[in-house]
Amino acid sequence: MSATVIDGKAFAATVREKVAAHVARLKADHGVTPGLAVVLVGEDPASQVYVRSKGKMTVEVGMNSYEHKLDVDTSEADLLALIDRLNGDPDVHGILVQLPLPGHLDEDLVINAIDPAKDVDGFHISNVGLLGTGQKSMVPCTPLGCLMMLRAHHGDLSGMDAVVIGRSKIVGKPMAQLLLGDSCTVTIAHSRTKDLPQVVRRADIVVAAVGRPQMVPGDWIKPGATVIDVGINRIDAPEKGAGKTRLVGDVDYDSCAAIAGAITPVPGGVGPMTIACLLANTVTACCRANGLAEPE
Ligand code: NDP
Repeated sequence: MSATVIDGKAFAATVREKVAAHVARLKADHGVTPGLAVVLVGEDPASQVYVRSKGKMTVEVGMNSYEHKLDVDTSEADLLALIDRLNGDPDVHGILVQLPLPGHLDEDLVINAIDPAKDVDGFHISNVGLLGTGQKSMVPCTPLGCLMMLRAHHGDLSGMDAVVIGRSKIVGKPMAQLLLGDSCTVTIAHSRTKDLPQVVRRADIVVAAVGRPQMVPGDWIKPGATVIDVGINRIDAPEKGAGKTRLVGDVDYDSCAAIAGAITPVPGGVGPMTIACLLANTVTACCRANGLAEPE
């Protein structure tokens, strides 16, 4: 195995330390404590795990965490009323509605009801538009975490060929915008892309956000390329015992690591950076709300 392993877990810990230091300064110098409200509708097990760890880490960096757990059959009107209340609450600087929502709730309507200044997930149509036009916005956490790791590894990304596999609004599209913003030559691939292996083979940077376990094999990777694996997939792991499972990404780690220059592992790569960026976005939102200098 030749690739440098990009340690997202360690990187995320340094981001959280910086966030904690900034939070401490906000409290000491301005008497302000950033607050993050997380809204969970229903009892999806994966969402419950995410919400728990978001709440725990919010408190660990010294911020206030407000959790709102609503019944699975909560009406759209009740959810919108809660969002309205959080929009008007000066102690709440960030609002995150955990996705996916139960089928009877209109996801776009709900997300677009969040005050864009408090939309720490960066999914509100205003933030999408601001990012797309290169203006100051709230940047979606997962792509932001990927960009931070790429910048830390490469420094300047200018002129690099980047292929993003996946065009979702939460990962693929904003990732492509961010890479374009850093002057990469960007290709967005998706399920209709012709000859995906050839498209991926020309990339200096591959970001895989597909949701298909180990889909990208090493022989699609240009020697020395950097591979960022966003995927989180649970697969059977009979080698660990009957009924056991394990997490894998969207790339086949061993064969890709043998040829790539650098690669993020799953778990321990993009995942931890996502939550760290959520905390960083909440501090940014708090600073903007109070007219204070933003963290770098
Ligand atoms: P979506 O299902 O919304 O999007 C998947 C994308 O992959 C679509 O654009 C789809 O194309 C494309 N795709 C599907 N099959 C293929 C194929 N065979 N070849 C090429 N492209 C294909 O997923 P998300 O973007 O929400 O998530 C992607 C992965 O990232 C998942 O594993 C998810 O769990 C993970 N994730 C991880 C996060 C983290 O914190 N690490 C955060 C968010 C997501 P088309 O549009 O044509 O259908």
